[in-house]
Amino acid sequence: LHEVEEEEAATPALPARGKLKGARLDVVDLDMAYGNYQVLRKVNLSAPAGSITCIIGPSGSGKSTLLRCLNRLAEPLGGDIRLDGDSVMAMKPDRLRRRVGMVFQHFNLFPDHTALGNVMLSLRKVKNLSGGEARRVAETRLAEVGLAQRMDHRPMDLSGGQQQRVAIARALALEPELMLFDEVTSALDPELVKGVLKLMAGLGESGMTMVVVTHEMNFARRVADQVVFMDEGAVVESGPPEAIFGNPRSPRLKRFLSEVL
Ligand code: ADP
Ligand code: MG
Repeated sequence: LHEVEEEEAATPALPARGKLKGARLDVVDLDMAYGNYQVLRKVNLSAPAGSITCIIGPSGSGKSTLLRCLNRLAEPLGGDIRLDGDSVMAMKPDRLRRRVGMVFQHFNLFPDHTALGNVMLSLRKVKNLSGGEARRVAETRLAEVGLAQRMDHRPMDLSGGQQQRVAIARALALEPELMLFDEVTSALDPELVKGVLKLMAGLGESGMTMVVVTHEMNFARRVADQVVFMDEGAVVESGPPEAIFGNPRSPRLKRFLSEVL
């Protein structure tokens, strides 16, 4: 049943090409440690407005920590992160919550609220919208991700793919300029992965700036503007997908690709 529903939802009506206003992202010499354990070492990364950056690398290489630093769920030790030139390090938390959205592997939806309720809740909290306004925006965002018919379902009555769409709609509702995705298809049944990846590719075409940690090498190859390979907390190699997959230079990237492809 869920598979049929997913197919139905797979043709979302996202904003037209270039309609979303993604920001440019610059990460400069970012360091991060958990106690004495250095997790990120001088990470540098630049992503033009409206681009898709895919981050690949072995488990434990610091990919999630990097994403968490970008919206300061984790506190960097040093370095800087800039959105259209504004330092994220100096940004007030509520401003940051609006400008940077994040989607997680395990959806992180509130189980006791409907799809609509989940999106409305964050609009009311973060944007201080009235109930009526929040409802109107939430309905629009949910329709955009293909969930017009499922707004009054609770997470447990939705497929994993649909739950992930709710999480994406919830993030989009705050009109972020940067969206972070951390292995958002890793917990999905295989037949539901494609629809979510298609939705993400569409968001990129709409103009969102996206940083996507993923194991989906085909997605990275087809959709990314740049691919960043991390190992042991550092960027080992980065470049266009043709170079990273077609002509990897470092032995570590070669070994990684031979294991995952
Ligand atoms: P990845 O997402 O690439 O798998 P992570 O960023 O989750 O890597 O983790 C990088 C390293 O930091 C790993 O060695 C992990 O064990 C460690 N780590 C992650 N989170 C914490 C934490 N909250 N406290 C201590 N160490 C952590
Ligand atoms: Mg991770």
